Amino acid sequence: MQRIGSYAKGVWIEAGAGARPIADAATGEVIAEAGNDALDVAGMVAYGREVGGPALRALDFHDRARMLKALALHLNKNKQALYDLSFTTGATQKDHAFDIDGGIGTLFVFASKGRREMPEGHVLTDGAWEPLGKTGAFGGQHVYTPRLGVAFHINAFNFPVWGMLEKVAPALLAGVPSIVKPATATAHVTELCVRLMLEAGVLPEGALQLVTGGVGKGLSVLGPQDAVTFTGSAATAAVVADGLPRGVPFTAEQDSLNSSILGPDITVESPEFDIAVKEILREMTTKAGQKCTAIRRVLVPQPLLQPLSERLAAQLGKVVVGDPRKDGVRMGSVVSLSQRRDVLEKAGIIAQEAELVFGGQDGFSPEGDLEKGAFVAPHLFVCSDPDGAEKIHETEAFGPVSTLMPYRDLGHACALANRGEGSLVASLITHSGDVAREVVAGIGAWHGRVYINNRDSAAEATGHGAPMPHLTHGGPGRAGGGEELGGIRAVKHYMQRVAVQGSPDILGAITGRFIPGATKSDGDTHPFQLRFNELQIGRTLTTEAREITLDDIEHFAHFTGDTFYAHMDEEAAKRNPFFPGRVAHGYLILSFAAGLFVEPNEGPVLANTGLDNLRFLKPVSPGDSIRVHLTVMDRKSRTEEYGEVRWHADVRNQDDEPVAEYELLTMVAK
Ligand code: NAP
Repeated sequence: MQRIGSYAKGVWIEAGAGARPIADAATGEVIAEAGNDALDVAGMVAYGREVGGPALRALDFHDRARMLKALALHLNKNKQALYDLSFTTGATQKDHAFDIDGGIGTLFVFASKGRREMPEGHVLTDGAWEPLGKTGAFGGQHVYTPRLGVAFHINAFNFPVWGMLEKVAPALLAGVPSIVKPATATAHVTELCVRLMLEAGVLPEGALQLVTGGVGKGLSVLGPQDAVTFTGSAATAAVVADGLPRGVPFTAEQDSLNSSILGPDITVESPEFDIAVKEILREMTTKAGQKCTAIRRVLVPQPLLQPLSERLAAQLGKVVVGDPRKDGVRMGSVVSLSQRRDVLEKAGIIAQEAELVFGGQDGFSPEGDLEKGAFVAPHLFVCSDPDGAEKIHETEAFGPVSTLMPYRDLGHACALANRGEGSLVASLITHSGDVAREVVAGIGAWHGRVYINNRDSAAEATGHGAPMPHLTHGGPGRAGGGEELGGIRAVKHYMQRVAVQGSPDILGAITGRFIPGATKSDGDTHPFQLRFNELQIGRTLTTEAREITLDDIEHFAHFTGDTFYAHMDEEAAKRNPFFPGRVAHGYLILSFAAGLFVEPNEGPVLANTGLDNLRFLKPVSPGDSIRVHLTVMDRKSRTEEYGEVRWHADVRNQDDEPVAEYELLTMVAK
C-alpha cells in the first residue's frame, strides 16, 4: 500500500499515526493511506512566511510567470503518470481532460498573463497616477503589493489537480507561498502532482508545501496577512471559517444549485434544443456529475418538458457506466462508497418533491462490481410544482442527478434560477438577444457566471461547466459569497491594494514607470537607435518644431478623403463650439508627430504596435507649430529577441501648451 506523503519545511513526511485510507473508487481496494498526526502544520505556516515568501518576493512578476510556464511544461511532459493514477478516483480519460489538462492549461494561461499584463517589477499599478496639486509635483497612485503571509488552499476531492493549480498559480504569481491541503479521497493524485512540480526544480524553497490528511490545529496560527481559500461543502466551510482567528481572509466555493434555462424561443425543431440536450447530458455524466458547476436544475418552457425529458432519457440510456479503465465506459464512478451514500441520500430527498423519470439504482448494472465500486446510475427527475418545492432548490446531490422543472414566463424562470440563492453558473440556451438581456438582468446578481449558447456559438462554446481556463470561479450566496476572480483579479486576491502618495520621481521609482512630471534624461543618441536593454525609463527625445499651414490641412484632407467641415470651412468651423475656425485634423497632428520623432534608418525599433490613451487636448490652427517630447514610460520583455516599449508622447504648441497626449507602443530588439 502506498503511503502518501506531506511536503513540509523542505522534506517529505510519510503517512503515520492517524493516517486515513484511500480506496480505488471503482474496485473498493484500499490502495494508499494519507495523513500523519505528528505533522507540524503551524511550523509549515511559519516556514512558508519566513522562507518561501521572501524567496518568491525577490523574484519579479515575469520571473514568477516564467516559473509557472516551466512547471506547466514539466507537468505536460509527465501527465501520463497523472492520468494513470487518476483512474483510481473513478475518473474516465475524458474527465482527465478537465482536471489534469485543465489544470496545466491554467498554469500556462497565468504564465502568459503574467508576462503580458503584469510589469517586470514587484508592484502592480492600478489605474493612472492622479496629480493632487496644481503643478503635478505631488500625486497619488494605487498599487498592489503581495501579502506577507501564506495562502492556505483547502480543496475538494473532485479536482485533485486543477483544484490545486487554479489557486496555486495566481498565488505564486502574486509572490505568495502556498500550502495545499487536498481532500483525502484523492490526495494521492495531488501528491503526485506536487512531486512533479518540485522535481521541475524551479520553485524556490518554501514556495509550495503539501498537507495530506488532517490539518489538526494548524489553521489557528493564521493571521491577517495570510489567506484561506476553501472548496468543498458548505457544512465544512462553516466549520473551517469558525476555527479561524479573527481577521484571516477566507473565501469559499461551496454547494451550488446551478441551473440551465431553455429560452422561450426554443422549439423541438430548433438547433438550440439539441444544444440543450448535449449540455445537460455532458453535465450529468462528466466526472459522474461531481462538478461544482454541474447543472442541477433545468428550467424548461412547459411545452418542452415532455419532449426534453424523453430525449434525455433516450440519450442517458446509451451511457455505459463502469470502471473507467474498461473499454466503452463513458461515465466512471463517484469518488468513494461514502460519497455514493451521500448522493443517494440526497437523491432520496429530491424524490420527495420530484418524480424519477429515468435511471435510479433499481436494476442498475454497471460495468464493474456494484458492491465494491462507487457506481451511481444517472437520476433524471421532473418536478411539476417548482414553486411549491423547497428541497430541489437547496439540495445538492453531488453526482449524476438533475431535475427538470417547467416555467411559465421568463420572470418565473429567473425567479426559479434565483431560488438556488447564489450559484456559480447558470446557462441560458437561446437565440434571442431580448431573452438574453432579460435573463442576465434577472439573474446576474445571484451568479458568478452566465453562460449563453446557441447555434452561432455552439462550435466554440466551452460548455456550461467549464470556466474559462484562467478563471477561478466564484458565486454569491450559497455558492460561497465570493466574487468572480477572472484572470489577473485572482492574482490581486493575494495582494493588498494600497494608495501611495509622493512626487512623480518617487512614484516612478516605486512603480518602475515614467510618471509625467518626473525627471527625464536625454542624450546624443536618438532613442530609436538604442536597443531594448539600453532604453532607460525616463529617457527622452525632444524634437524640432514644425509649423502646420493651411496648405498642409488642405493637402491632408484631399489626400485622405477626410474633408470634415471643421478642417475645410472657416465659417462652419466657427459655428462649432469647440473650434476657433478651421483646425488641423487630429490624425494630421499624429502623423506630423511621427515625422518629427522618427529615426528613418534601419535600427532596433521593429514595429509600431498601437496607441493607448490618446487625447486631443487643444485645437491646432493654421500657423501654429508643434513639437513632441517622447519619453520611455515602461518596458516589458516579450521574447529572447525583443520587448515592448511604451513611450509617453507629449505634443505641445508654440506656447508650450499640450495639444495631444498618448502612449505609443513599439517592439524593440534586444
Ligand atoms: P468536504 O467534505 O467539505 O471537504 C472539503 C475539504 O475540506 C477537504 O480537503 C477536507 O479534507 C477538508 N476538511 C474537512 N474538515 C476540515 C477541517 N475541520 N479543517 C480543515 N479542512 C477540513 O468536501 P468534499 O467532499 O471534498 O467535496 C464535495 C463537496 O465540494 C460538494 O459538496 C461540492 O458542492 C463541493 N464543491 C464545491 C465547489 C465549488 O466551487 N462550489 C467545487 C468543488 C466541490 P478531508 O477530505 O481530509 O476531510
